[in-house]
Amino acid sequence: MNERPTAPGADDRMDGRAPVPSAVHSAGKANPARPVEPEDVENGLRFGHLMAVQTKRRLNDVAASLHALLETLVAQGTLSLDDYERRREVTKQREVQRTQSEALVSLGDTVDKYAATGLPEINCAELRPLCKSRCCTLKFSLSIQDLDERVVRWDYSRPYQIASRPDGYCVHCDAEKGACQVYQQRPAVCRTYDCRKDSRIWLDFDKRIPAPEGRSP
Ligand code: SF4
Ligand code: SF4
Repeated sequence: MNERPTAPGADDRMDGRAPVPSAVHSAGKANPARPVEPEDVENGLRFGHLMAVQTKRRLNDVAASLHALLETLVAQGTLSLDDYERRREVTKQREVQRTQSEALVSLGDTVDKYAATGLPEINCAELRPLCKSRCCTLKFSLSIQDLDERVVRWDYSRPYQIASRPDGYCVHCDAEKGACQVYQQRPAVCRTYDCRKDSRIWLDFDKRIPAPEGRSP
């Protein structure tokens, strides 16, 4: 699946600074007479993801302690460094294979999308008949700001990746016109993305030659 290039640091991370959804803080004040709203479900999911991230951070602490112990043993000559490195490489490959299918929680950069400057000037309305709005098939993750606004939708099965239609397009991409239906609130990466040099979109932007459909990055 294509990944839209994002600003540095926008990757599969969600650190402990991610704010806990407000409904989680006020869970004890919930009104039992009030029907469950989609917001409640979304806040519950976000809380679950936050817990998962905290667990991961604790695992990182354990890993750091283990490495410190191993380094001590190597330094003292109790453990052969070559033997350790060989075994570690084998184990690493095994872990990579084992975790390839594991789900990740990914978040976009913590930036104020409304303050983004130097946005590319591209006449999308004129170019859509050629490009077919292919930029809106690329995958990326929403930011905390997007999540708090609750306008742009994310894929509940791959938090917090942009939600897609079965045809691969973003759910906010107008099926007929190809225009963004959440233009005012569109994520930061949608604002800053420049398709002109992206070979997945254009063979030659200046000559208006689109890349063949289905082209992989
Ligand atoms: S692919 Fe480029 S020209 Fe086409 S809609 Fe997206 S940004 Fe605009
Ligand atoms: S939010 Fe708008 S600009 Fe961004 S991928 Fe979806 S339709 Fe395209």
